[in-house]
Amino acid sequence: MTTSAFSSLPLSPAMLATLDTLGYHNMTAIQAQSLPTILNGRDLIAQAKTGSGKTAAFGIGLLQNLDVTSFKVQALVLCPTRELADQVSQEVRKLARSIPNLKILNLSGGAPMRPQVESLLYGAHVIVGTPGRIFDHLDRGSLELHELRTLVLDEADRMVDMGFIDQISQIVALCPPRRQTLLFSATFPDDIKKISGRLMRNAEEIKVESIH
Ligand code: ADP
Ligand code: MG
Repeated sequence: MTTSAFSSLPLSPAMLATLDTLGYHNMTAIQAQSLPTILNGRDLIAQAKTGSGKTAAFGIGLLQNLDVTSFKVQALVLCPTRELADQVSQEVRKLARSIPNLKILNLSGGAPMRPQVESLLYGAHVIVGTPGRIFDHLDRGSLELHELRTLVLDEADRMVDMGFIDQISQIVALCPPRRQTLLFSATFPDDIKKISGRLMRNAEEIKVESIH
C-alpha cells in the first residue's frame, strides 16, 4: 500500500515540521509521484494541471539540495511572468522558513535593474525570475551559475508560447552540466519535447491527471 504522507519521504525533520505548520499533511498527486524522483537527484519532466501543488514539489526538492553555508546561487527557477515568479518565491520562502540565513532573490523583468544588481552583490542561494531578465544578469556578469545544483523550468509551455525559448537555451548553456533539471508543464507540445531532450539527461517522465 502506498502512503501519501510527507513523513514517508526522506526529508529533514525541519522540513517535515515546516510542512506540518503549513498544514501540508498529505502530498498532492503530483507531489507523491514526483518527489521520490526529485529527491533522488534525477531529471524530471512533469505534466500536471494548475493548482496541483507543483511549486511545493520542486520547492521542497531544491531546498533539500542546498548548502546554505555557501553563498553561491544553487537553485534557479524560471517562470513565464513576474506575477508567477512572485507566487513561486512566496511559496518557496514559506517552505524555507526553518532554514536560517537562506536568501531567495526575485529577478523578474519589469522591475528596475539596478536594485537587483545591488542585491546580487550580497549573494543568494535561490533565484526565481523570468528568462529575459535572468539572461540580462548573466550577460552583464551580475549573476553567475557555476555552483548551480537545481534548475527548474516552471510552466515551460507558457514560456515557450511567450517566445522565451532562445533565452532559456542561452541560460542553460551557462549552467553546469552536472545539475538536476526539473521541467513542469500543463501541456506537452512538440516544442517542449524538443527542448526537454536537449536540456535533460535520462529524465523520468510523469503525467498526473488529477489534482488530489
Ligand atoms: P500549481 O503550481 O500546480 O498550479 P501551486 O503550487 O500554486 O499549484 O499550489 C496550489 C495551492 O495548493 C497553493 O495554495 C499551495 O499552498 C497548496 N498546496 C500545495 N501543496 C499542498 C499540500 N500538500 N497540502 C495542502 N495544500 C497544498
Ligand atoms: Mg505553478
